[in-house]
Formats: sequence, C-alpha cells, structure tokens
Amino acid sequence: MTGGNSPYSLIVTDIDNTVFNWVDYYVTAFNALLDAVGQCIGSSREELAGQAKDVFSAHGSIEYPFVTQELKSVNKYYGDDIDGMLTGAVWKGREAFNLAAQSVLHPYSDVVRSLAKIKRTYPNLPIVALTDAPRYVAMWKLNKLGILNFFDAVYGLADPRVPICMLTSRIKLDNEILVKHLQQINFGFKGKIRILPDDYEKPGIRGLKTVLMDYDLDEPIERRKKVLWIGDNLRKDVGLGNRLKLRSAWAEYGADLPPALLASLALFSPAQNIHKNVYLKSSDSDAPKPDVVFQSFSDLLTELNIGK
Ligand SMILES: [Mg+2]
Repeated sequence: MTGGNSPYSLIVTDIDNTVFNWVDYYVTAFNALLDAVGQCIGSSREELAGQAKDVFSAHGSIEYPFVTQELKSVNKYYGDDIDGMLTGAVWKGREAFNLAAQSVLHPYSDVVRSLAKIKRTYPNLPIVALTDAPRYVAMWKLNKLGILNFFDAVYGLADPRVPICMLTSRIKLDNEILVKHLQQINFGFKGKIRILPDDYEKPGIRGLKTVLMDYDLDEPIERRKKVLWIGDNLRKDVGLGNRLKLRSAWAEYGADLPPALLASLALFSPAQNIHKNVYLKSSDSDAPKPDVVFQSFSDLLTELNIGK
C-alpha cells in the first residue's frame, strides 16, 4: 500500500503522551480508583498506592486493569468472598476510574483535526499505532479518545492476565468483564491488530521492525526513509527510530509535564515505569537527536506538506 502523493509511505505513532496526555489521565483516574477502593475497605490512598506498585511490577504493566483484585489489603478484607469483592471494591473502583477518566481522557486539541485532514488528503497513507501498553488497554484508550478508526493497525503487547483467587481458584472477574476479555473485544475496529511478544517492548527494535516488515518497508534500508515515526520519549522513541534509520519526529509537547503530577504518579508507579512511561526532559542532555521536533501534533501536517 502506498500513500499516494504523500512524502511518506507510512506513519507510525506512539500513543501515550503523543496523541493524548497519558500522565494527566492515568494519575487522575487511578487516584480516583484508589480513593473509592480505600473507602470500601477503610484503607488510605497512600497505603493502596504502595501495594499497587507491587501488582504493576508483578504483571509488567502499570495499566494492569485488574489491579484492585490483586491489592493486598483488598484480598485481606474480602478473603474468599469473591462476590463481595467484585460488587464492592472492584465495582466501586472501576466506576470511579471511568468517571474520572471521562473528564481527562481527551486527545491533544489538534489531534482529531490533524488525523482527519491526513485521511482526507492521503486516504491510502497507513497510520499505525505502536505502543508498549497491552493491546486491549491501547484499544480501549483509542476508542475512548474517539480516534481508534483513524488507525489502520494497532500494535501492542499481550492482553492482561486474568486474576485468580489462590484460595478457591475462582476467577476474580464478573461474568460480563470475563466474556469481554475472552472475546478479545476489538471495539468494532476494522483495521489490523497485532499482539507483540513482551520482549518486543521499546526501546528494543523488534516491535517497530515488525511494523516495517508488515508494510514491506524494512529492506532495502533506503525504503525506511519513507517512514515517519513519532514519539514523545527521546530515549525510547527517537533513539529507536534513529537506530532503524527512519525519520524520527519528537513530540516535545508530550514531555512537558508538571512536577506535582509526576510526584503523584511516583506514589503508585514502579520506578522503572516512571522512565518507561514518562520522558523526563531535564535529566537528558546527551539524548538522541530527532530529525524533526513537533511543538504540537498538527506539525505532522507540515511534515506531510498539507499545511496546518
Ligand atoms: Mg509515549
């Protein structure tokens, strides 16, 4: 597939902090979840945040969606009363998370307009999302953001593991959620979904290289110059693009995060996730150099020669 008169044959973009403010969304929504769960079982946000770190580490994802069921204090409080847990802390936590997410889960202001203009101008130019989030979580977010159907393909990591009660071997999910999980719900997405092995995580090259191979843009190496790769993290995203000799765009606006928000994230994020999910600008004077810097997502339009 080619992009018509587009200067590029393929656009590949990161999602978190590139098409929306992930830190603002996740800190706000997850704190709401912790507060709601805490109210159910009489624990503080701080105490549960510390326990959440352990769960996220064990599951290899800070966006593990069944975190409540795995919190130490939640399990201690409910014991083998799984129904009580599901209708109590888990339901209340999910409700609070979703409600809070509604107010903060929005694309950056120029994303919808830009994606729509690209699709109008170059209907055959594929736009691919490549993320280290689990495939389900990535699609859930893109769907809520209202931009899922602008993408031709979503590449993410494996779906989350189902939580199981050690005492009774019962699955700690209500039936509706379990069915969604088993059906690998795709939100009506018409594009291609590809689940990458966990060790294809960025900044390893294998995830992005898989995209290039799928679009027949990997070899010969000159073909890769027809690929534009966008991400907010100089080390993880731009560094990766440079190693693969693509054209790398740095979404600098995504790295602009208030310290108070980062401090709040640090309360429940495993240390390695802070660097994984957030690019800390000030700590990096010898970071990889991008080919182009985007001050906003719509700079992509200039890069594609279609004005702003
Ligand atoms: Mg990112």
